Amino acid sequence: MSTNPTKHIAILGSTGSIGTQALEVVRANKEHFTIEVLTGNGNADLLIQQAKEFMPNAVVIADEEKYLYVKEALAKDDIKVFSGTDAISQVVQMESIDMVLTAIVGYAGLESTIAAIKAGKQIALANKETLVVAGELVTSLAQAHAVNIYPVDSEHSAIFQCLAGEFHNKIEKIYLTASGGPFRGKTKEFLSLVKKEQALKHPNWEMGAKITIDSSTLMNKGLEVIEAKWLFHLKPEQIDVVIHPQSIIHSIVQFEDGSMKAQMGLPDMKLPIQYALAYPHRLPSSFPRFDFMKYPSLTFEKPDNGTFRCLPLAFEALRKGGNMSCILNAANEVVVKAFLQDRIGFNAIPEIIEKAMSRVAFIGNPAYLDYVESDKETRALTRDFIGV
Ligand code: NAD
Ligand code: MG
Repeated sequence: MSTNPTKHIAILGSTGSIGTQALEVVRANKEHFTIEVLTGNGNADLLIQQAKEFMPNAVVIADEEKYLYVKEALAKDDIKVFSGTDAISQVVQMESIDMVLTAIVGYAGLESTIAAIKAGKQIALANKETLVVAGELVTSLAQAHAVNIYPVDSEHSAIFQCLAGEFHNKIEKIYLTASGGPFRGKTKEFLSLVKKEQALKHPNWEMGAKITIDSSTLMNKGLEVIEAKWLFHLKPEQIDVVIHPQSIIHSIVQFEDGSMKAQMGLPDMKLPIQYALAYPHRLPSSFPRFDFMKYPSLTFEKPDNGTFRCLPLAFEALRKGGNMSCILNAANEVVVKAFLQDRIGFNAIPEIIEKAMSRVAFIGNPAYLDYVESDKETRALTRDFIGV
């Protein structure tokens, strides 16, 4: 790839789990990538440290109270400092940026992703909530602005890798693999007593708190089902989920001749991050290699939809369409936060989401402002249910 110019990248959410791993990839491949923009929210010290190392054109600290602190720390460096969420949507439009890695967590990532697409920037998408909330709008905008959305989520990266060279071949169906999370095989009674400390211990992946809770409820897989629909233009019946506790097969595509292609590797998010950033190239890496002898069996199970209700709820939202996935997402963000604050029990998570889905006004063909409104309405109603 030495003949290619370096790719100029903005990382939104650079202080998070995906953001810091993306910077590890960049650090190991300095000749291929230049950092133009870094953004963070709470962790000002880490953002400052990252800025001093990677010397971006600009940084944004979303939390406005930390603006002066960051500004002063970077006063001697040639780096522009901005604050507030609007500033994120503005800096992504900078002429010099080729690609934007969206690694902000939750609905908060939607606006800046839309701004980047409208500015014609290629997208490396980690923020799956963007496609869950407004998949139809975001994918049609991407098409209108000739923007490719490269998946960072490991399952979707797997599907994308399996589709290389298959442009003319129809997908019959896809199987998204799921580890099953820390509570695989547990009963509802057991789950009624679990605490956040247990839910935060994921067996195979080290991730931010929100997605770790989503993995323990299987909502993460539900969000990924919806994400897959929009990324790969699938019907709900073309998407299936299979529990695969070893997290070695990252997902599978089945074609019309019955042939299946799977992508495998040790669970390490740096791999899909690097694939998205470097696409269409594969860069050499020193990530540990898979050893068959350490995994004498790869196993598969059906998800327990009776115990883990979030997954069927996500399928229901997907089938319903309109703003239903936006409602599902907003309710989920509120209940996950409440669970992390010990305000509700684990089994209340799907119960409250289901209630929100049946109460918030359904909109069949939402425009951007309808999503904003549905998100707001759902959050208020869900907080009411919880009493916060
Ligand atoms: P994280 O909580 O570790 O990091 C989130 C980042 O977003 C931080 O930089 C934080 O400062 C920033 N942020 C949070 N709220 C913000 C706000 N309101 N405005 C601006 N910035 C804000 O999360 P993560 O685990 O890195 O996940 C990021 C996204 O990637 C999520 O959408 C998640 O679903 C997706 N994802 C993560 C993984 C993983 O392994 N961590 C895997 C697949 C997909
Ligand atoms: Mg995933």
